[in-house]
Amino acid sequence: MQIDIISCQPDLLESPFSHSILKRANDKGLASVHVHDLRDYGIGNHRQIDDYAFGGGAGMVLMMEPILNCLENLKNSTEYDEIIYMSPDGESFTQSLANQLATNGNLILLCGHYKGIDERIREHFITREISIGDYVLSGGELAAAVVTDAVIRLLPGVLSNESSALTDSFQDGLIAPPVFTRPSEFRGLKVPDVLLSGNEAAIDQWRFERSVERTKQRRPDSDLNME
Ligand code: SAH
Repeated sequence: MQIDIISCQPDLLESPFSHSILKRANDKGLASVHVHDLRDYGIGNHRQIDDYAFGGGAGMVLMMEPILNCLENLKNSTEYDEIIYMSPDGESFTQSLANQLATNGNLILLCGHYKGIDERIREHFITREISIGDYVLSGGELAAAVVTDAVIRLLPGVLSNESSALTDSFQDGLIAPPVFTRPSEFRGLKVPDVLLSGNEAAIDQWRFERSVERTKQRRPDSDLNME
């Protein structure tokens, strides 16, 4: 899978993809992330990418032309399943949307800045809009990094222990149970006995019960599957 991110602040995206799981995915050839500087597609000597909003008001708006030039350039060499605009008013990003995107082919993630992007891009060239939550960030970069991370770790072969993504919160419809590691007792605080029992069936049952309990407590309104 290839993810192309279009940004006017590419420096913000240097670090997230050069570490840990995402780096491993790239090294194994399972996923590649490319960041494109919108400024490279800017207009004129000053490589202009934004302008004042028609009708007035504070804040700059990213112009159509640089974005279209960049999109067209990318589409010349690669096929994309989705061209996604990161936007606070987009569809909420969830684990189920991450799963859906992970089964897709290549993606473009377009990051806005300032006041946002010319609405005509959203209307005619974007296939999907995604929000990472009901709050406003100063740019789409951090949101694009969140989506990229959540999607890439789901690709087969990226996590070393294949089953580990499946037992994460939300993945099986439940919030993950608590986890403990050595030592089994520290400053009088003990690990639940059942986890030290070696009885796999009892451990599975305990984990399932804790998952159901946590899901009821922490996401009481969700329709997570607790059957
Ligand atoms: N004026 C816009 C906000 C612009 S914020 C409004 O009120 O809706 C600047 C950019 O940051 C946006 O274009 C978008 O790409 C990104 N952004 C901000 N908050 C976001 C969020 N919650 N999820 C995804 N992207 C977000």
